[in-house]
Amino acid sequence: MKKIFALFGNPVSHSRSPLMHNVVFKHLNYDACYIRIKLEDGSKLRETFFSYGLSGANITVPHKEEAYKACDEVRGFAKTVGVVNTIVNENNRLIGYNTDADGFMQAIKEFKDIKTILVIGAGGTAKALASRFLQDNLTVDVLNRSANNLAYFKDKVQNCYTWDDFELKKYDLVVNTTSAGLKDENLPAPKELIESILDNTSFAADAIYGKLTPFLQLAKNKNITYKDGADMLLGQGILANELFVNKELKLEDIRTEMQKSFEL
Ligand code: NDP
Repeated sequence: MKKIFALFGNPVSHSRSPLMHNVVFKHLNYDACYIRIKLEDGSKLRETFFSYGLSGANITVPHKEEAYKACDEVRGFAKTVGVVNTIVNENNRLIGYNTDADGFMQAIKEFKDIKTILVIGAGGTAKALASRFLQDNLTVDVLNRSANNLAYFKDKVQNCYTWDDFELKKYDLVVNTTSAGLKDENLPAPKELIESILDNTSFAADAIYGKLTPFLQLAKNKNITYKDGADMLLGQGILANELFVNKELKLEDIRTEMQKSFEL
């Protein structure tokens, strides 16, 4: 029987995930399709998952923490961070994973000698990335618009800042994990602040893909080496697809096909 996978989020219309996974399924003759479901209320994730008869799903902004709660069991790195971006249906039990962080680590491999990182944002992606950086013993600071969401980071990272109390220092890498710039032309913090941060960093990365965000535009203007979230998307997608097909396809074949979808 054809398996159905889906992306849950709000918005979802911009997402490349359906194309990435459908290209893999089609070219590797795996009997499945991948759809997108715009979900307003994250607490409805579990019932919506079952009402569509899904075999698995990815979860994007703003429901990754709700997705963690929706699972019967959470495995691996997702357990450390409490953030789930991939769910697999195992005999009607929802098993949660996080493939974002490893996807991002793959993406920044080409940036050499990264030791200190400023994470802008304190949502699900920030938690996943900061925790993954800490696992590799990197020094991490976090800067967020509001103080509330910083609580998670307080006893983990070196420094937590809001826009008002930020203390400028040098970083090897600055990562925008906020959704500022996704649907609008906002910077993730006031312009003056972002300018001074970029003036003191070697590399910049954005989790958003498919457009040059105002944050990356500023980095580009300053001749800073930067990358958008496309490689992170590819990295997390390959790992998620491997979980979806439960080793029925080879990782290398998934990688090759999914990579090709970026040329479409
Ligand atoms: P969350 O909703 O969990 O967190 C959003 C964060 O962005 C919060 O810290 C919030 O701050 C901040 N924020 C939102 N709007 C603004 C703004 N206008 N100015 C400053 N800060 C703002 O989102 P996620 O962590 O799930 O996702 C964040 C982004 O990362 C999305 O754009 C998503 O598309 C992208 N992403 C890309 C991936 C990829 O594969 N390339 C993978 C995962 C995510 P506050 O706490 O003050 O509300």
